[in-house]
Amino acid sequence: MELATPPGVLLESLPSLYVHLPFCKSRCRYCDFNAWVWKGQDLGRLVDALLQEAELRVPGLRPQTFFLGGGTPSLLPPEELLRLLQGLDAILDFRDSSLESSMEANPESFDEATAEAAVAGGLNRISIGAQSFRPPVLAAYDRPHGPEDIEKAVASARGAGFENLNLDLIFAFPGQDPLEWEADLNRALRLGPQHLSCYELTFEPGTPLTRKRDAGRMEEEDSDLCLHLFDRTLEICSEAGLDRYEISNFSLPGMACLHNLAGWRRLPLVGIGPGACGWGDGVHRKNISDPAAWQADLEGGGDGLEESSTPNSQTSAFEHLMMGLRLEKEGVRLSRVKESTGVNVEDLPGDPLALLVAEGLLEILSGPEGRVLRATPAGFPLLDHSLQRLLPEGRG
Ligand code: SF4
Repeated sequence: MELATPPGVLLESLPSLYVHLPFCKSRCRYCDFNAWVWKGQDLGRLVDALLQEAELRVPGLRPQTFFLGGGTPSLLPPEELLRLLQGLDAILDFRDSSLESSMEANPESFDEATAEAAVAGGLNRISIGAQSFRPPVLAAYDRPHGPEDIEKAVASARGAGFENLNLDLIFAFPGQDPLEWEADLNRALRLGPQHLSCYELTFEPGTPLTRKRDAGRMEEEDSDLCLHLFDRTLEICSEAGLDRYEISNFSLPGMACLHNLAGWRRLPLVGIGPGACGWGDGVHRKNISDPAAWQADLEGGGDGLEESSTPNSQTSAFEHLMMGLRLEKEGVRLSRVKESTGVNVEDLPGDPLALLVAEGLLEILSGPEGRVLRATPAGFPLLDHSLQRLLPEGRG
């Protein structure tokens, strides 16, 4: 087993923190996140409400990782961004406790002043949504920036002192020449990122891109070509020293995203802000998604919560597998699934694990941390198929 971080870097008992900033300048045509077009809503009041929720729910949290995501957090004016970060630190003490404190930024709204506010507020990792360096592709996605804005945003981040930088990219735009994707990837790599997230374009229900496909005005990229693009991505990133540690994520040695690793390992998470989710002690929690409704709830004395639920042990065990098997080399430590959910997944009715191991799709390794389940090299591209067979309702 090869851990994406040295053992002990992330502790299983400690929480991570996610804070959601829900607004964006425009809505990308592929996006199904809880993101809302900013139409002049009062961002100062939004910051007040985020701080109010933090104070109400988790004062003194001391998270081991912190991620300010969205939406587009860089949409905040620098003074509001700094006020948010300083306020969160005063309530949660994240600057002292967090090993990695990240923020998502979009190229059109991440200038020197915003980058400096982020660093002054205690952030040490930046994730910039580049997505593509091709103007026609950016336009088809309705992204409000050009390729040169990505380079400017990276320069702003480096100038402010960010040494840990991620770029998000999307491949498999319909009809894209594979060489164009390689050129995109190489242009991103020339910016010297410590981390790259390369996602295949997906057609999520309800997005404008999906409606366009369903109306016959766009065709999804052929799956063989997608596999070819994925293979080339692996090769090109590897030549640049960035190894894949999760389906879509590549990093220089030791630079895997700790916050996301905590999520894939199903470590406890506190989510603050509209639509933010969290889990811990077997309970799932989800906030009200609509920013106005979430804010009104908090301002009216509520806690912004939409629902909390306690999944049964079988579902919780499946969630561990679904998340952990994404970690290509690290996999899932089976004793942790048992400790956390009470379920021994080697003892499931119908023994689906044994069948998947016999078919060469999964493997079980024994190491100093106990028995570890992971996908084989042949089984990793077929992970969805294996997970379907491990679903509580899919067994048998
Ligand atoms: S910037 Fe990100 S969160 Fe906002 S609409 Fe685009 S993809 Fe969605």
